[in-house]
Amino acid sequence: MKIAFIGLGNMGLPMALNLLQAGHQVTGFDLAKAQLEAFAAAGGTVAPDAVTATKDVDVLISMLPASNHVEGLYLGEGGLLAKASPNTLLIDCSTISPKVAQAVAAAAKAKGFAMIDAPVSGGTAGAQAGTLTFMVGGDVKDVELARPLLEKMGKNIFHAGASGAGQTVKVCNNMLLGIQMLGTSEALRLGIANGLDPKVLSDIMSKSSGRNWTLELYNPCPGVMENVPSSKAYAGGFGVDLMLKDLGLAVENAENLDASVPLGKLAQQLYELHSKAGNGQLDFSSVFNLKKVD
Ligand code: NAD
Repeated sequence: MKIAFIGLGNMGLPMALNLLQAGHQVTGFDLAKAQLEAFAAAGGTVAPDAVTATKDVDVLISMLPASNHVEGLYLGEGGLLAKASPNTLLIDCSTISPKVAQAVAAAAKAKGFAMIDAPVSGGTAGAQAGTLTFMVGGDVKDVELARPLLEKMGKNIFHAGASGAGQTVKVCNNMLLGIQMLGTSEALRLGIANGLDPKVLSDIMSKSSGRNWTLELYNPCPGVMENVPSSKAYAGGFGVDLMLKDLGLAVENAENLDASVPLGKLAQQLYELHSKAGNGQLDFSSVFNLKKVD
């Protein structure tokens, strides 16, 4: 298949490389030169802009930071919906507002395109290993069309429901993730303050009722686990500002529906404090170092 991949960041680059490795022809575009160079070095074809990348492709995949980037890419006079061929299957893997995902998919449908929202979970390690979980929203036939391709980048492909449903699942998941990371950090800090070895504490809690993904697979305390951001000065991974964006989406969504998310709101405030202290670009597990708040 001929694929255009727009957004070759921490997640997009390894995802695009997995498609290349599976034998697809992948043309990539990113606004950052370093990302384009990394993609070219791994054998990818680089396009000078997004519109050129989509020329004569079967599928277009986007993996951008937030709602406004996705709107900018697809909508408006210079947007891809005005420039690409309607035979192209559109797959947006970015984490964005469910409302925006629905609006962009509706605009795409009006122009004759098939479009699905397919945000992911599994982090950069999952993107590299091709073991991501995809949470997909859209028409069944479009999801089934995309499935073989998504299986080259992920292990679990879930159809959550109609357009926007993938994003809604993602928002719920990441609100839980953000809260869990804060809880794990607090528990580890308390143990350390009591003189416990954080590795011993983590091993025991991982076999007890406090077990969770942030403790077992993404431990926020440096030195407890190899190959996670906390052991690499919190570089790479999933940025504090991206987590803050997702908590913003969760709180906004809850407010629109009059749903109660007090812990989500508190988590949003704590990550905001941490970001404002200059940590926005670090991995979100760096919230382990949040200054004392009482
Ligand atoms: P990133 O900031 O590393 O990458 C985004 C890339 O998009 C950057 O390289 C940027 O230059 C590029 N970009 C921005 N606007 C563009 C445009 N108009 N055209 C082309 N390129 C453009 O972010 P990431 O960590 O790869 O995350 C991407 C998305 O995936 C986000 O929505 C994030 O919430 C979600 N996500 C991230 C993780 C993670 O662990 N990093 C996990 C799951 C989901």
